[in-house]
Amino acid sequence: FKARWWALNKVKTVCSYCGTGCQLTLGVKDNKVLTTIYDENQGFHNGQLCTRGRWGYQFVNSSKRLTTPLIRKGDTLQPASWDEALGMVADRLKTSKDAAATLVTPRLTNEELYLLKRVVKDAVGSDNLDHSGGYAHEALTAGARESLGFPGSPSVIADIQKSELLLVIKTDAYETHPVIGFEVNLAVKRQGVALRILSDKKGKLSRLPGAQTYVHTPGAELVLVNALAKTIVDEGLHDASSVGAIKGFDAWLKSIESCTPDQAAGQCGIAADTIKAVAREYAAAGKALIMLPLGMGYPGHGKALAQALINLALLTGRVGKEGCGVLIMGEKNNSQGAADLGIHPTANGLNAQAILAGCSAGSIKTLYVVGENPVVSYPNRKQVEAALDAVEFLVVQDLFLTETASKADVVLPACSFAEKDGTFTSLGGAVQRVNRAITPLGDCRSDFDILNMLHAKLTGQAAYTSQKEAFADLAAATPGYAGLTLEGLGDAGAVRVNNCTASFVPVATSTVTTEAGKFALLTGSALNHSGTLSLYGEGPMLVCPEGYLELNKDDAAKLSITEGDAVTMKSATGELRLKAKVGTRLPQGVAFAPYHFAEASINSLTGATAITWITISK
Ligand code: SF4
Repeated sequence: FKARWWALNKVKTVCSYCGTGCQLTLGVKDNKVLTTIYDENQGFHNGQLCTRGRWGYQFVNSSKRLTTPLIRKGDTLQPASWDEALGMVADRLKTSKDAAATLVTPRLTNEELYLLKRVVKDAVGSDNLDHSGGYAHEALTAGARESLGFPGSPSVIADIQKSELLLVIKTDAYETHPVIGFEVNLAVKRQGVALRILSDKKGKLSRLPGAQTYVHTPGAELVLVNALAKTIVDEGLHDASSVGAIKGFDAWLKSIESCTPDQAAGQCGIAADTIKAVAREYAAAGKALIMLPLGMGYPGHGKALAQALINLALLTGRVGKEGCGVLIMGEKNNSQGAADLGIHPTANGLNAQAILAGCSAGSIKTLYVVGENPVVSYPNRKQVEAALDAVEFLVVQDLFLTETASKADVVLPACSFAEKDGTFTSLGGAVQRVNRAITPLGDCRSDFDILNMLHAKLTGQAAYTSQKEAFADLAAATPGYAGLTLEGLGDAGAVRVNNCTASFVPVATSTVTTEAGKFALLTGSALNHSGTLSLYGEGPMLVCPEGYLELNKDDAAKLSITEGDAVTMKSATGELRLKAKVGTRLPQGVAFAPYHFAEASINSLTGATAITWITISK
């Protein structure tokens, strides 16, 4: 960058990519973010950042940023004033009422999410509010809410270093939450913590010294976790002194009666003796922490999986103890904040899937999309595009003219994290301050200011006069946030309280399915990317510039595919050509593709089921 270090204005804030919640310092000059500055005194991670945090900020000053409101006139989107654009949006929302729906990104600050909830639920009168986490993280936090009484993890990031055994379920923290991957690395190498991984593919964590990875059939996580619990009970390895006192134990025990290691082995592809050995090791460890990293790709049994993992931790007396428990790792920077604030439909409201179905059916007339790009990031692209094309009125509030925004009737230009004040809540429950480093570009407004202006159009007055007022309001209304104040958070932030009231919840058992002659397609995050935002950062794009299909080298050899070949994939919902990446990370019969890329849109193949079955040919 072209500036002396001493000439930079340095602003402390929080990374806007994943739920780890790394603090960072932005180096700013002439209203441009020019760099991030390493500060070893910052955050739990001593200033370390992954590629996304270190280089991903370039999207802030991207020349592709939207800088003025746009209104559709005929086939084109044309510049408009805020007054005109928001007037149209308010009119449509007002007339639509419960035929209006909102999809919001969990990248917004807590204050913005809380204000959005007020706008759509109170000022518009609609309960149809959801976010992309509704496809993955929300199911897990809903499971936690039933098991623990609050929608989050009973553990914090610091538990990783204090544990004696880490049991990582599915996927790889190094790719989804890289700085947490560093923490695992330190725990293994410095503290000698044992690492056991149950996953449908190997990852970078598998290469750590002493790590044991047990690769199972895709979709078998729940079957496997229940078999671990069954082994622990049958062999008397559970904490008999504590479990009897926990609500729901007997009913849960009955629900796992048939979940024997032998029964699981037939479905998991892991031998019964291995399942028993992992269960014994987990039970015997003085302190054990279960980790569940998320990267958009758990439709299906997410809720039951979270509950099964919490049951397993409760069974061994490991909830509420240092170095123990379950760490549910939400994908986006404020996924946990969205869960805490209840950004999901009420009993009467529609979730994301039902909202899109309503758009297609005509029952949803106005769709307000805030910071989401459903065309690329939601499953089943064709269905999503059809829904967005069908809805009468589409409003998109975003930084860029995304594939979704280009279909809109009104586009509202929003601000990046670097142009905002507020708070994010990390996956460990740390509420941390986000500080404005530059003034909004062009005629952009922060989501907070846009929502406040929209509230004024709808009701005659703005909802809040300051961030401080909004934070005080949300803290009073959100369990675990009582007593927190914006000023009191300081540079370090504060961990919100988990009011844990644990109980065993009977879990549904599931059956693992396979389709002969087809590949199980896994989708998720690629290293250095997060959602679709990182596509506008030069750093992440240098490291991983395009989508790809990864497959096992033996499968590739059988299909005469070599690294870099273009391959055709077909599923029940579509067809796509991608470059092949060949390796040993995946078992035979399994393929993986990241979901971030618009042109190589893997979600044109996915549907509503947890596993998509595809054919692959050269
Ligand atoms: Fe940002 Fe997550 Fe990387 Fe930390 S691990 S720097 S929060 S993307």
